[in-house]
Amino acid sequence: MKSNHVVIVGGGVIGSAIAYFLAAHPRFQGQVTVIERDPSYVQASSTLSASSIRQQFSTPVNIQMSQFGFAFLRDIQQTLSVPEHAPEVGLQERGYLYLASESGAAALQENHLVQQTQDVDVALLDRAALAQKFPWLHVDDLALGSLGVHGEGWFDGYALLMAFRRKARSLGVTYVQTEAQGFAHQAGRVHAVHLRDGSSLACDWAVNAAGAWARPLLQHTGFDLPVVGKKRDVFVVSSPAKTPDCPLVIDPSGLWFRPEGQFWLCGIPPEEDLDDVPLDVDHRQFDAVWQIIAMRVPGFEALRMQRAWAGYYEYNLFDQNAVLGPHPLLPNLMLANGFSGHGMQHSPAAGRGIAELIADGAYQSLDLSLLSAQRLLDQQPLIEKNVI
Ligand SMILES: Cc1cc2nc3c(=O)[nH]c(=O)nc-3n(C[C@H](O)[C@H](O)[C@H](O)COP(=O)(O)OP(=O)(O)OC[C@H]3O[C@@H](n4cnc5c(N)ncnc54)[C@H](O)[C@@H]3O)c2cc1C
Repeated sequence: MKSNHVVIVGGGVIGSAIAYFLAAHPRFQGQVTVIERDPSYVQASSTLSASSIRQQFSTPVNIQMSQFGFAFLRDIQQTLSVPEHAPEVGLQERGYLYLASESGAAALQENHLVQQTQDVDVALLDRAALAQKFPWLHVDDLALGSLGVHGEGWFDGYALLMAFRRKARSLGVTYVQTEAQGFAHQAGRVHAVHLRDGSSLACDWAVNAAGAWARPLLQHTGFDLPVVGKKRDVFVVSSPAKTPDCPLVIDPSGLWFRPEGQFWLCGIPPEEDLDDVPLDVDHRQFDAVWQIIAMRVPGFEALRMQRAWAGYYEYNLFDQNAVLGPHPLLPNLMLANGFSGHGMQHSPAAGRGIAELIADGAYQSLDLSLLSAQRLLDQQPLIEKNVI
């Protein structure tokens, strides 16, 4: 390959995964620069995430990305170690439990069939089996549950981000603290990234990995990326309740909860889901959480909120799936956007995929072309039914 300077805008988990996979790629000879405006990552989704990983998707490509993600997390101490530091991401292997009432049971069964074609280790449990396995769960209104047996769980997302970043830097990647303002292009190719101070950084390739802030960077490129920030609140709660072997539970209402040390994390999609609102926790939402969680787990009637935070899903309004691969009009501008709540677990697969597109000219390990921006132009959504 003759091209040699790749500029990645956004040094969150996606940008840093791309940087690492490029720098580690045997056929990539160039230089990688990551532009990150806030190295403390205060508002980055990667630090505000619930950082869980599942295989229970309804589309094979999402399942395959998670399968690679899980294997990557398991081996991370070897893969991303640097001299005198082996990363510890605290991967807990624990299943997701999707719950369905009578009306949702058919969808769960349909998804199960897709998951079986991908060798996902998942079990369907009827009401009696749910009651037996999770005696602390209220099951009277449930018809079915889908429980991940292997290959799902949760981890420390900030540690994953730092591990990618540290390893990328050890391989020669440069992180620059500044803000990008857009991409300079001519004759169908990006040749520089405009910076806030009025200067530009020349490049042979550019990558948009700016998370919830990716859309405005593409103004003046002829493609409107329908990605917005959708705020999600996470509540940390304590309770005297006992929930042995608690999975990550997804209630039919959309409420989710999972254990975190001696506490539990929980959240629910907001009723009024506005775009790009400030990252302030809406404490009124906790009332809705409480009502549902205490119904689902009677022991949670005694529940105390310890703290809460809010972060953005970088939400693809078109079909809630990642937009990955070349910009439709500027082939040397790669998009890695719109993961819509599953970007932590998909960061290894996305990073490897974009690195292959740049270094090899095509996907080598896992074909991610279904996620390309072309589907938006063709008005062909890739529907993922299991969005949390
Ligand atoms: C509450 C919550 C729960 C979640 N739970 C899960 C989960 O369980 N599992 C899962 O897989 N995913 C989950 N996600 C989603 C996941 O966190 C995101 O998909 C992922 O972090 C996206 O990474 P990113 O690098 O694209 O974005 P970010 O981490 O937001 O990084 C983007 C970076 O770009 C920088 N940037 C933006 N614009 C510019 C610019 N113009 N110039 C320079 N720098 C710029 C920002 O400062 C930021 O650091 C959750 C998200 C939230 C908010």
